[in-house]
Amino acid sequence: MATFAPSPAAVADIGVTGMAVMGSNLARNLARNGFTVAIHNRSVGRTEAVMDEHGSEGDFRPSESMADFVASLKSPRVAIVMVKAGAPTDAVIDELADLMDEGDIIVDCGNALYTDTRRREAALRERGLHFVGAGVSGGEEGALNGPSIMPGGPKESYDRLGPMFEKIAAQYDGEPCCTHVGEDGAGHFVKMVHNGIEYADMQVISEAYDLMSRALGMSAAEIGDVFDTWNKGDLESFLIEITATVLRHEDQRTGKPFVDVILDRAAQKGTGAWAVQTALDLGVPVTGIAEATFARSVSGSVPQREAARAVLPAQVEAQDVPDREQFIADLQQALYAAKLVSYSQGFDEIAAGAAQFDWDIDLGAMARIWRAGCIIRAKFLDRITEAYRRDPKLPLLLADEYFTQEITRCVPAWRRVVAFAAAHGFPAPVFAATLSYYDAVRSERLPAALVQAQRDYFGAHTYQRVDTEGTYHVEWSADRSETRQDQPEGSVTHGAVDRAAGEQSQRRSTEGESHHQG
Ligand code: NAP
Repeated sequence: MATFAPSPAAVADIGVTGMAVMGSNLARNLARNGFTVAIHNRSVGRTEAVMDEHGSEGDFRPSESMADFVASLKSPRVAIVMVKAGAPTDAVIDELADLMDEGDIIVDCGNALYTDTRRREAALRERGLHFVGAGVSGGEEGALNGPSIMPGGPKESYDRLGPMFEKIAAQYDGEPCCTHVGEDGAGHFVKMVHNGIEYADMQVISEAYDLMSRALGMSAAEIGDVFDTWNKGDLESFLIEITATVLRHEDQRTGKPFVDVILDRAAQKGTGAWAVQTALDLGVPVTGIAEATFARSVSGSVPQREAARAVLPAQVEAQDVPDREQFIADLQQALYAAKLVSYSQGFDEIAAGAAQFDWDIDLGAMARIWRAGCIIRAKFLDRITEAYRRDPKLPLLLADEYFTQEITRCVPAWRRVVAFAAAHGFPAPVFAATLSYYDAVRSERLPAALVQAQRDYFGAHTYQRVDTEGTYHVEWSADRSETRQDQPEGSVTHGAVDRAAGEQSQRRSTEGESHHQG
């Protein structure tokens, strides 16, 4: 086994620890771009393999120990951590921090939950170190040839780190797909939402495929051709492109369409679920992302699927669609509309996160750095950047003039697709949920008024009126009189809720609900 002599001087511009696929590719990308790169891995074998196979690609400085790795870095030191997410990342950060000096920068390029990044950033700040959580999208290929990079952390660390990241990031129209996203966990937050949008995109593409396959009886290769055509229009994107390729691919073992030999259970690593959980906490309706995440869960609900198939067999079969070309054209427009809603909802989540955690996130810049390198790269992201340029305070992406026009154009086709799917028993959760959101968000009045009345009935949760100021409650179990709840103490009549005792009210609500359910 080769051992590496400690570097005689601190010469490396940047270091990467974690030489599995992502870390080694990122290190190679940095080295190929002219940076001197220190490399390290817990087990030295991976470092040796990188040197054996790729050592000639640039100026690498391999180290066997973490101490030698840190010593080989120029000051202020920049060390990227690219190891398994969770406890291993914490362990490596701790080991690095013990060896580093004030002003040095530790960068976590793994897929961390933004709350972990906030915790790590605060802890390292206490020790005088900079911690940057950077979202990296584009998979192995992107890490090697140019990912989209979403760094958070202290702004001043970007002065040192930014030029290197901007050089290795994907470029679009001469602009790097990397920018400082915001403080502490902002980078990982935005990467999380990016992945959520990716879930929604993938699911709605799959729903369009499913309808062409099962309703029109088209072969996978024929559907691949349709996606190829779509990739030349508004839908042009990496995901549409790879969908066409995958659908045209034949299984080498059986000669069957590749998609037909794959078990229909989609896996997930958690970022989609994080995006939904966070949206629930923030009260942001990301229904496209949520339905896409649940669709994966449905696919994996094997006992439930088996039990349901046994007693409720689906009667779905190829339908006699009179105008197949019109149906495919409808699907294209429905796909575009559903995608617009998913992105609009995703940007709402980023805006809500920014407001909650006091991050100054430029929403237009987020769309700009997703135009190349990442999985959701798409032509229409330019339109999002333009929309936020027109109005940086745009409350809803769909309210931008371009998107308003586009979605309005697609609505009739979108409704036909959702209606067809429902009428004939095809699941289309993202098509349907995004249409439902579209109809809800533009409604003059929502049935939430009735929900609020119900809440007041069983939990004394109070309500507000359309015709006057104030917060009210009806004495449902007594004379059904209405009492105002937000007047100064003493002027509230009997039975009033102590609004200050929010916890108590919450408890009553729970009791009321459980009683009701019981
Ligand atoms: P990985 O399989 O997630 O992790 C393997 C690496 O972690 C190895 O270098 C391993 O070292 C190291 N490691 C594990 N436990 C450790 C510990 N306790 N102490 C020190 N090192 C430890 O590698 P990956 O697929 O390259 O991904 C790296 C990170 O990038 C992850 O956070 C992942 O979520 C994220 N990411 C991955 C992708 C992707 O497409 N794969 C895309 C974006 C982001 P040993 O060799 O010694 O075991």
